[in-house]
Amino acid sequence: MKRVYFFGNGKADGTAKDKNLLGGKGANLAEMTNLEIPVPPGFTITTKVCIHFMNSGEYPDNLKKEVQNSLKEIEQIMGQKFGDPENPLLVSVRSGARQSMPGMMESVLNIGLTSKTIPGLIEKSGDNRFVYDAYRRLITMYADVVMEKAAAIEPKEGDGIREKLDEIMAKLKSHNGVENDSELSAENLKELCHLFKIEVAKSLGEEFPDDAQIQLWGGIKAVFKSWNGKRAVSYREIENIPHHWGTAVNIQAMVYGNMGDNCATGVAFTRNPATGENVFFGEWLPNAQGEDVVAGLRTPNPLNNLNKISDSQNLPSLEDSMPKIYEELDAIQNQLEAHYNDMQDIEFTIQNGRLWMLQTRTGKRNGPASVRMAVEMLEEGMIDEKTALMRVKPEQLGEIMHPMLDAKVEKQSELLAKGLPAGPGGASGQIVFTADEAEVWHKNGKQVILVRSETSPEDVHGMFASEAILTTRGGMTSHAALVARGWGKCCVVGCANIRISPIDKTLSANGTTLMEGDWITLNGSSGRVYKGQIPLKAVNLKSNTYFQKLMQITDRHRKMGVRTNADSPADAKQAREFGAEGIGLCRTEHMFFDPERISAMREMIVAENEEDRRKAIMKLLPHQREDFYGILKAMAPHPVTIRLLDPPLHEFLPQDEDQILKLAEELNITTEELNARIENLHELNPMLGHRGCRLGISYPEITEMQTRAIFEATVQLKNENQSPFPEVMVPLIGSVEEFTNQKKIINDMAETVKKEQGVQFTYLVGTMIELPRACATADQIAEEAQFFSFGTNDLTQTTFGFSRDDIGGFLPDYLEQKILSIDPFQSIDQEGVGSLVKMGVEKGRSVNSKLKIGICGEHGGDPESIYFFHKTELDYVSCSPFRVPIARLAAAQAEVG
Ligand code: PEP
Ligand code: MG
Repeated sequence: MKRVYFFGNGKADGTAKDKNLLGGKGANLAEMTNLEIPVPPGFTITTKVCIHFMNSGEYPDNLKKEVQNSLKEIEQIMGQKFGDPENPLLVSVRSGARQSMPGMMESVLNIGLTSKTIPGLIEKSGDNRFVYDAYRRLITMYADVVMEKAAAIEPKEGDGIREKLDEIMAKLKSHNGVENDSELSAENLKELCHLFKIEVAKSLGEEFPDDAQIQLWGGIKAVFKSWNGKRAVSYREIENIPHHWGTAVNIQAMVYGNMGDNCATGVAFTRNPATGENVFFGEWLPNAQGEDVVAGLRTPNPLNNLNKISDSQNLPSLEDSMPKIYEELDAIQNQLEAHYNDMQDIEFTIQNGRLWMLQTRTGKRNGPASVRMAVEMLEEGMIDEKTALMRVKPEQLGEIMHPMLDAKVEKQSELLAKGLPAGPGGASGQIVFTADEAEVWHKNGKQVILVRSETSPEDVHGMFASEAILTTRGGMTSHAALVARGWGKCCVVGCANIRISPIDKTLSANGTTLMEGDWITLNGSSGRVYKGQIPLKAVNLKSNTYFQKLMQITDRHRKMGVRTNADSPADAKQAREFGAEGIGLCRTEHMFFDPERISAMREMIVAENEEDRRKAIMKLLPHQREDFYGILKAMAPHPVTIRLLDPPLHEFLPQDEDQILKLAEELNITTEELNARIENLHELNPMLGHRGCRLGISYPEITEMQTRAIFEATVQLKNENQSPFPEVMVPLIGSVEEFTNQKKIINDMAETVKKEQGVQFTYLVGTMIELPRACATADQIAEEAQFFSFGTNDLTQTTFGFSRDDIGGFLPDYLEQKILSIDPFQSIDQEGVGSLVKMGVEKGRSVNSKLKIGICGEHGGDPESIYFFHKTELDYVSCSPFRVPIARLAAAQAEVG
């Protein structure tokens, strides 16, 4: 079995198709090499070796030999030798998984620098300073990655070897009166390397290895181990990347962007990843190494003049500084985009006036950009409709619908600072300074903005928990910007005018000092940062032509219907604008909480006998009729599924003493009597108690009143020449007898209303399927019902036996111990709950081929669940209004994917 794949000099063992084996980076390096794009030669150790190493702790036989052979090939191409005192070859060792995990795993550069090879490299390069600069970087990376992290040493926060070495460097800089690393002389750097090595031996109890081969194998091992590093594991969990994939290792000849003024390094995108605009977009730094751009330690320059914004007007572009190389780079980026038919994220280095490509991969983009690129690439003929649909992650549409800051209030707000607009939309939150705090505050229900000088992959959990991210350093391709964009979060980076003190937990800018917990607001589209909270305004989707076009394509390809869960005419209207084709669930109980109605409701609940109950309930009739009139009208002629009262009655009763006293007065009974009634209604497991159809069975007058309201509203609309389409839904049934009991009341009421009003109308009567018994007896129920709607919230609750309200107590343990891979209330448990859904569908359709079947639990807005419901051949999904476009896209993807 081949374990090492070589690439160099226009020929590679692998291709872009070998991603699973070579990782994304390795496969694309091979592909670029085959395309005769200038790539420094190198080789990739496969992900299979990583898996072998993870399982056995050892390398497979022959790996060493294969590595040495490939190293020889690099030596031949470069005319250099690894570990050679006179003409040494230096290599980089980088990770590269199947799916990009930006910055989550380790890399070590400049491997091969030792006391033996340093003089040779100085001689060859004629640049003392460059060599010691490379050496100090090697010591730092190697000590951090190989000697500390891979050795599983876990220093206290702020006490890691990297911080210690950074501190030594800071001291040396201040001692020499310089501010930038680049101002340190060769002598300074040589001394620094000496001090670094002493510190490494002292702190880690081991000398920094002075042997090229030891360095190489140390680097390889550390990359493999970094697959199971803390932050890589947590990133995979967030992104749902399987842990068994493993990473490949890429070993490649070093090229240098920091060897002088005709050297440079940069990161670029073939289209703008923040807006989607079709312009070559990127950043570069002269005389620097790649990590300088990405780590955000220096604020980079715009790549070309088109990219310049007001703040970067005076910075030199690569286009002006090195026009010939820019032209070559521009041609390569065009070639790459045309070859991959997608936006590429590329890294390059210029060494002594020669351009080298170090990486190309499919570029991450935010929601607005992904929609625009998909639509424009389709119009350019680069991709077809199906590909365009698959290019947008359904969840990303949420970003287009993201609220923006209210412009009027924004104008009057106190501007603290301005940075780079790295993630669009607006967000307000309370300031926190560490990722851990962000996570804790968020768990406590707070809305936070994480403020850091720059972020590192260690911060991902806190970034995830934050509304937005603000950094004082870094550019548009810095870690914070990349990660935020991937998630579609609001983000402002490189806000140099803000000073933060993580120790005092303060942030100062523009003469104002704010503390942890104070509110700030970010405009991620302009880069502005404000003091306080600014209200957010919904965006106008109608003016987003890319979004509208994508939605049209979506509807051309999808078969499954998309409805909405809405309880008010306003929500119904909103959902229709988002493309909902009906209401799949109108929860009538939400209508009872209005102050005017709640007292009639309470009167009905505490009534001692049917007569009193009827009297009270009839007070609700006009209100309900008005509600249904509004909703049926807003959706007409689309169907509206109205569910009869579902929750246990005690939910409508007051809890605290004052309110009980007040209600007793209103009802003209004693507090003792009221308390006794409340006590009576108290249930140990209300979710499994007197709720759902059980209410309508005990108190048929509730069903009568609600159905009368529905049908009278229907008649009223018909009289106004509208086409209302009511579907009456009975909740929580477990047997056909329960259903027929309620169905009779509903049908009788329809007849009564038709007679009273002398108007004919059509309607359906169906049921929710949300108990396992309903699934198991779905054939009996389907003989009687005209439609099923799966209530997967309750079905999940009753299948797992997990209380939907109390799962929070143990879900984190279940997720951590991998007993569950995802919260089953968020994404359908396909094996368990899903097979009950399947059974319900099959049994139901076996006796009633016309049975309409939908789903209205929360899963109706979850793309993964939607793919499943498509496979299960449901007629429609129903979800909250803001998820309707997401569901439309997911339903189309399920069809074409
Ligand atoms: C359900 O159980 O899935 C459902 C939609 O009903 P509710 O959430 O109102 O119980
Ligand atoms: Mg339910």
